[in-house]
Amino acid sequence: MNASILELHDISYAYHSLTGEIPALSNISFHVRQGEFLAIVGPSGCGKSTLLSIIARLLEPESGTIAFQNPDGSLEYPKTGYMLQHDHLLEWRTILGNVTLGLEITHKNTPEQVAYAEQLLDDYDLYKFKDKHPGELSGGMRQRAALIRTLVLNPDILLLDEPFSALDYQTRLTVSGDIGNIIRTTGKTAILITHDLSEAISLADRIIILTGRPATVKKELSVHLTKEEDTPLAARSAPEFHQYFNLLWKELSHEK
Ligand code: ADP
Repeated sequence: MNASILELHDISYAYHSLTGEIPALSNISFHVRQGEFLAIVGPSGCGKSTLLSIIARLLEPESGTIAFQNPDGSLEYPKTGYMLQHDHLLEWRTILGNVTLGLEITHKNTPEQVAYAEQLLDDYDLYKFKDKHPGELSGGMRQRAALIRTLVLNPDILLLDEPFSALDYQTRLTVSGDIGNIIRTTGKTAILITHDLSEAISLADRIIILTGRPATVKKELSVHLTKEEDTPLAARSAPEFHQYFNLLWKELSHEK
């Protein structure tokens, strides 16, 4: 079994405003293994995005610690990359221009890095669209381009904040399968926030269930599905799928 890339210990966080304090996270502890696909589910507004922001080090926890182990053996915090509900592709740039934007901003757009971006576009069936603009692509293709824009920067951990929720149901099934496969083949560690229980079960190795705000860890669930192929439909047809779904539903139906 792979080592932990992150270990959260007793993380708590509250927002402070003129009208008072909004506690968002309370004593959250869990670990994430290198190469693992972890899903986090919980009621709307419970603190899931706040938790991702703390993992990305955009917010500092009020108490608690995060122990980490960089996969490259260095003492640096693992590099994180975000994928959000909206792809935030820039409409006036080409697809290649969009996926190399992060390289440009970080002054890393060397010929080798641009070649790597083109290789990723080729691997994930977007190469022939590299000179098109986002408006010429389907929603699913746009999300694949957004993922490539993140992968180009070679993050150790992908933080996926409801990345499929703006897509229609059918596209969502295909794109979540595609993106799940891309993440698995690249061996990246992923943390997915979703309110779609079926999506969590079909993509994740393990699911963390949070309580209502302030979020605490209610339960952890390892997912093992008997399936013939790695597709969202095969996952949803697995004999164990409904048991997991019922369990998650039961846990969450008591939370607000
Ligand atoms: P989730 O991702 O689970 O929907 P969030 O982490 O976005 O929840 O938010 C958790 C709680 O913190 C919510 O009740 C939200 O209203 C509150 N919150 C989020 N951001 C801020 C902020 N910048 N200032 C004050 N309250 C916030």
